[in-house]
Amino acid sequence: MKVLLTGGAGYIGSHTAVALCGAGHEAVLFDNFSNSRRDVVERLERIVGHRVAVVEGDVRDTGLLQRVLRDQEIGAVIHFAGLKSVGESAEKPLEYYTNNLQGTLSLLAAMRATGVDTLVFSSSATVYGEPEYLPLDEAHPTSATNPYGRTKLQIEEILADVGRADAALKIACLRYFNPVGAHESGLIGESPNGIPNNLMPYIAQVAAGKLTHLNVFGADYDTPDGTGVRDYIHVVDLAEGHLAALEYLAEHGPGDYTFNLGTGHGTSVLQLADAFAEASGKAIPRKVAPRRPGDVAACYAKTEKARDELGWTAKRGLAEMCESTWRFQTQTLNQGTGA
Ligand code: NAD
Ligand code: UDP
Repeated sequence: MKVLLTGGAGYIGSHTAVALCGAGHEAVLFDNFSNSRRDVVERLERIVGHRVAVVEGDVRDTGLLQRVLRDQEIGAVIHFAGLKSVGESAEKPLEYYTNNLQGTLSLLAAMRATGVDTLVFSSSATVYGEPEYLPLDEAHPTSATNPYGRTKLQIEEILADVGRADAALKIACLRYFNPVGAHESGLIGESPNGIPNNLMPYIAQVAAGKLTHLNVFGADYDTPDGTGVRDYIHVVDLAEGHLAALEYLAEHGPGDYTFNLGTGHGTSVLQLADAFAEASGKAIPRKVAPRRPGDVAACYAKTEKARDELGWTAKRGLAEMCESTWRFQTQTLNQGTGA
């Protein structure tokens, strides 16, 4: 099948493109490169061993999307494009609403105009808000505490409405937990601009000597070692989850389906720092800092629905997540070719 990946040059999109090509599908990347580099495409092509089609454009450009969907004879869309920083979303809410909401509405209009009926959407565990119980299952109540989370929640609601109104639409909302790691080649991975907000890229830069130490945001949480617990999932496992979702939609037909993509295991800040030190052979100096506003103590997935219905489970462990991140850091980022 020919699949359009909006935001396909980004972190998760590029890994999903590799997984799609590996399974015999054809990937067409659609990206405005607002948070990715053009040379990621060349690195991706080195991994898959052939050219990959790329369209530079903004998802809010409905006309362009329509032309691409029609001319390229796209069979399904995976919608990654959007802005994703919680902190930035509080400072620039309008940018988040226009990119994420308007972008999705534009995509839905283009899909309707061209008869493309299959959509996989990048949602997030952030839609669960403050956990009322753990592990988080798909039936857990949803809420939002910041504009980014609100866009994800609102898009899920829009997709549910649109799905109810159009009996042909096949929609899967995938609620990602904490994607980390990189492709085993070390050629593609996560390369945030500036100082990373997220834990794994921050630790990688400490190991690389670019940052002096890790600030541990709170050591007094009600968790086994007092630091925040998250469900880190290898980005290659996550990418394979998208393949499983596409196959599921093809098999099950129209509907609006929601799945957690996580491992079901919680890892603390200190455990991740220790695992990274082990994988990289570098010390990760750390200092306890105040809690980060808005952070929850612990968040991890109930994964049975994805296992039983999608036939998908995460296979890669913490060591592989850290080793691949370090390989990307040393082979690509430190060489100045990936950031
Ligand atoms: P990313 O920033 O690496 O990738 C997003 C891509 O979309 C970038 O290449 C960017 O240039 C592009 N883009 C942004 N706005 C666009 C627009 N208006 N038109 C066209 N292209 C546009 O982010 P990612 O980590 O790969 O995340 C992909 C998706 O997954 C996002 O929707 C994000 O909210 C969601 N998600 C990410 C995480 C995470 O921790 N990385 C967790 C949960 C959900
Ligand atoms: N964290 C930390 N120091 C950092 C970045 C993150 O201690 O420099 C902690 C954060 O408080 C949380 C965990 O690491 O407990 C994961 O944070 P991240 O931002 O990666 O993911 P999210 O909070 O979005 O789940």
